[in-house]
Amino acid sequence: MCPPADQTNGVTKDEMVPIDNSNTPHIPPPTNETNGKSEPPPVKSHKGVYGRASDFLSNTSNWKIIESTLREGEQFANAFFTLEKKIEIAKMLDEFGVEYIELTSPAASPESRAHCEAICKLGLKRTKILTHIRCHMDDARLAVETGVDGVDVVIGTSSFLREHSHGKDMTWITKTAIEVIEFVKSKGIEIRFSSEDSFRSELVDLLSIYRTVDKIGVNRVGVADTVGCADPRQVYDLVRTLRGVVSCDIETHFHNDTGCAIANAYAALEAGATHVDTSVLGIGERNGITPLGGLIARMMVADPEYVKSKYNLSMLREIENCVAEAVEISVPFNNYITGFCAFTHKAGIHAKAILANPSTYEILNPADFGMTRYVSIGHRLTGWNAVRSRVDQLNLNLTDDQVKDATAKIKELADVRTQSMEDVDMILRIYHTGIHSGELKVGQSAVLDKLLDKHMPSRETSPSRANGANGTPAKRPRVEETA
Ligand SMILES: [Zn+2]
Repeated sequence: MCPPADQTNGVTKDEMVPIDNSNTPHIPPPTNETNGKSEPPPVKSHKGVYGRASDFLSNTSNWKIIESTLREGEQFANAFFTLEKKIEIAKMLDEFGVEYIELTSPAASPESRAHCEAICKLGLKRTKILTHIRCHMDDARLAVETGVDGVDVVIGTSSFLREHSHGKDMTWITKTAIEVIEFVKSKGIEIRFSSEDSFRSELVDLLSIYRTVDKIGVNRVGVADTVGCADPRQVYDLVRTLRGVVSCDIETHFHNDTGCAIANAYAALEAGATHVDTSVLGIGERNGITPLGGLIARMMVADPEYVKSKYNLSMLREIENCVAEAVEISVPFNNYITGFCAFTHKAGIHAKAILANPSTYEILNPADFGMTRYVSIGHRLTGWNAVRSRVDQLNLNLTDDQVKDATAKIKELADVRTQSMEDVDMILRIYHTGIHSGELKVGQSAVLDKLLDKHMPSRETSPSRANGANGTPAKRPRVEETA
């Protein structure tokens, strides 16, 4: 079974201040107010001061996902999906709202064929089902019998694949493609024709075969960076050129070997592509393809209202946890949107600004994804504004000078070991009691030490560390104040 949706991937909530949705019993319920000030309205456009005039080719506000966790993802080293798990993932992706899911070819194995047929019978609400086959009539015949909504046909067109893989020339490829496409079309379902290793194929060959298959009526042509060699400018140039040659939709598939999979997908959409292949957490052959969550993060910046209108974004974490568990990996600490520190603010300067207006240091709003923002305060880089916020949440009556004085003590203690949220609260309460009983005055560090020794005898224990994801000790980061 999948972990619960509220799993935090091991985040150490103890040492952080939840700004939006605190569920700590003695903390006031979530509000949009910080320090009694109303939060400014969220920033509507993220395009920034360098936004370009809209490009007539751009589809960054008009695109679709072909989710390939159950095809490309099956090629991930750790993946072995049972039918039960495939059904669970397919239903989640349907609920999330992806336009298509792509399944392993029924020609791959008898089980693959049975799984494909079973998923087609699920009656998914929003998501169309595709299967991915070689450009071969035997595979095409099997595929159309499974009940899929469409077939994705692929064939290698680069000289590497023509010489060392299937050994066919472009004339044979074109002839076979026409035969397969006309057969699939005759069954009344969608058909995509894609080259493999497109960026190492001859442009003349590519454009020639795409023009041919477009004329005979494919729904989409596909561009695939099978080896992950392309960069965004190459992608933009190829897709823009292709956009001028075909009238059908353009699907794109980017491997992440050199870290460009999300940027390449974005460049493709800017150049007029219409569909992007993704997988959950990016799992796939080698180090995988454009991750679903990463693409969503990128596209939210381009057009948040469009993305929010299409997808059930609060499901993202649940889907990722489910797939991570199925393939026995952790969600990476720096994952887009759902990584355990994706919305955690630490440096004092950042914390102050975030408390005033989250848009200062956040391009994505965690609430859009059912996530929560945290300001970490129990560390040596903390600032008095963040501590002031906590003092207010705790309903303690301290002046700014007193908060600054308490903050100095928190920083001093945090130089020995990171202070948990409980520790910080206790220090603040003891400070508050000391001030109001007359035992303590601002600047009396030694007196405060005595009070802390009396009420927190265990505070001088050996240095401890925050736990990272999955309970493993995380190295305490050296964070510069303004980084
Ligand atoms: Zn691939």
